[in-house]
Amino acid sequence: MRQRAARDQQRLDSGAVTSPKDLENLQKEIVSLAKRQGDLEDVVLEVMERRESAQERVTELTGRLESVQAKADDATARRDTAQAELDGEAESVRKERELVAGSIPADLLKLYEKLREQQGGVGAARLYQRRCEGCHIELNITELNDVRAASADTVVRCENCRRILVRTSESGL
Ligand SMILES: [Zn+2]
Repeated sequence: MRQRAARDQQRLDSGAVTSPKDLENLQKEIVSLAKRQGDLEDVVLEVMERRESAQERVTELTGRLESVQAKADDATARRDTAQAELDGEAESVRKERELVAGSIPADLLKLYEKLREQQGGVGAARLYQRRCEGCHIELNITELNDVRAASADTVVRCENCRRILVRTSESGL
């Protein structure tokens, strides 16, 4: 378009166009071309501004993405550390349990395992101040007398939840 305007201007300046009608048309075209060029420049400017603001937004979003990614990485690392700790703890508890289980008579261990399965993971409970700590029910006088009468190596059970009762000095007997 600029070339066309320049060519028109050249023709005008050269004096080759002599007819007043042609001269007028040529001048009109030059004015109209200048106006269109101005409009197009405005459009280009607007597009550039929009491109710049889009670029800023991309930069901002990239920054946020990186920060979120860093947080996610950090959380993953902490989770892995916690998981490793828990695995270690579980392994040590498992070994400890194995050791204790080895010292318990086979039939008692079998009973305990059965009860544990039936009673939500707790097969034995402490008798504490006349109360079974498995079901939290206080033993009645008859039950207490039975426990009192039982020898130290007798396996006593809670009449309510059937768990093995573990007697201690704080059992309230
Ligand atoms: Zn009980």
